[in-house]
Amino acid sequence: MTINDKTQHKINKKEKKNTINIINPYNQKIIIQLEKQNIKDLKKLISNAKMGQKELIDFSSRKISNALYTAFENLKHEKKKIAKILTEETGKPIKDSIVEMDRSIETLKFSAEESKRIYGESVPLDAGLGGKGFFAFTQKVPLGLVVAITPFNYPVNLAIHKIGPAIASKNSCILKPSLKAPLAAIEMSKIISSEFPQGVLSTVLGGGSELSNELITNPNVDKITFTGSVEVGKLIASKAGMKKVSLELGGNDPLIILKDANLEKAVKGAVNGAYLFAGQVCMGVKRIIVENEIADEFLQSFKKETEKLRVGNPMNKNTDIGPLIDEEAAKIVEKSVQNMIDTGADLITGGKRKDNFYTPTILDNIDGESSIIKQELFGPVAPVIRVKDVDEAIKIANNTEFGLQAGVYTENIHNGLKVANEIIAGSVFINKQSTFRTDNMPFGGFKNSGVGKEGVKYAIDEMTKTKLIGLNLR
Ligand code: NAD
Repeated sequence: MTINDKTQHKINKKEKKNTINIINPYNQKIIIQLEKQNIKDLKKLISNAKMGQKELIDFSSRKISNALYTAFENLKHEKKKIAKILTEETGKPIKDSIVEMDRSIETLKFSAEESKRIYGESVPLDAGLGGKGFFAFTQKVPLGLVVAITPFNYPVNLAIHKIGPAIASKNSCILKPSLKAPLAAIEMSKIISSEFPQGVLSTVLGGGSELSNELITNPNVDKITFTGSVEVGKLIASKAGMKKVSLELGGNDPLIILKDANLEKAVKGAVNGAYLFAGQVCMGVKRIIVENEIADEFLQSFKKETEKLRVGNPMNKNTDIGPLIDEEAAKIVEKSVQNMIDTGADLITGGKRKDNFYTPTILDNIDGESSIIKQELFGPVAPVIRVKDVDEAIKIANNTEFGLQAGVYTENIHNGLKVANEIIAGSVFINKQSTFRTDNMPFGGFKNSGVGKEGVKYAIDEMTKTKLIGLNLR
């Protein structure tokens, strides 16, 4: 389906094999039934995208920037409407959907700005043997067609982190949003695509191995930029062959609280980090590693703040925690918590599931070496690991296949920098939890958390190739 096509996403009352129900996770009701696309549709989209990119290449950077600015203004006008759709399809509390929209709007603005700053450099070929008399410079040239595959949890912002830089650097883009929550992303894409020639930006709605394979292996696709689970990321990388691939994958981010931390700030960081969007955040705090000396004091205050959180209807502006994306996800969280309790952890608060809801949960005395704590848990669960000192904290923090972001609370800058230096992760924040991100910073994990960087300027680097032009003056 092309975004400009008015017939897209037809509601099909009789559920057929080629339709998908988009479900509201709060009340389990079907929001809409959409038609999935097939290989033929996708091939057409790819050929339109190729033609659209040819037109885009002729645009000046100024024209692209102006069009992105117009889209930015238009997206601002639609902010509340799209935020509501986001909440309806994901169960994200409305106040957090508004934040996602604000960040998405800003990401689009960064894209409009960066589209004017795609520089090459002059290269002194005369530094090399035989290079005397050359005048040479590089250009960053677009790759062509970028396929963007995005997850359910931040469907608008994570899509704009791919679409904005792709178009800013004169690529066309096909977005494949998550089938669990595609509606807000489709609305956002319509706004951006209407500023550009047909085919520059389109969305494809579908799943299944045939469509996925075509998306990844079609020779006209030049790059795949994926955000999602490690499992799917590895599958995509294995199929992509020589195509450029960026992977933003899972996390198991630690929050280290040292004995000299400002506890009030640390508790605030722990609450936001562990429970934001019911813990369904790649850079959410998944392990709280606390020095023994202050662990009891920290837990007392953390429990009190956790129990203040309001769980309920995500459309209510006072709600802090809504449902998980589906019941299956909530059952996985329930099972993992039970597993931790069975292997010796103490339940401090929470630990209850009802349908898609899971209450904010604290577990104490977690064994930092146990296998269950090394995996990514997508739910509102705060496992607390007690350690004797900063060295043990760092060792445990690194004891995972992931390395997305990390945070450490301490008033001792020496210890803060020691932790930051020794933790293996894409970003480490001192006196802030890992859920912090601004949309211009380089973002992307180490180890199994990913390959490549996002953040508009950095994503543009990943979506262009460097070409050298040399003139022999002799
Ligand atoms: P997922 O991997 O199940 O799905 C992500 C996307 O991939 C969806 O659009 C899905 O339809 C698609 N997909 C699934 N199988 C595919 C296949 N075989 N070929 C091509 N596409 C396929 O992830 P999810 O459950 O939607 O999201 C949660 C995961 O995403 C977590 O692991 C989380 O940590 C990660 N995530 C990472 C970041 C980051 O920036 N590092 C951000 C958000 C989420």
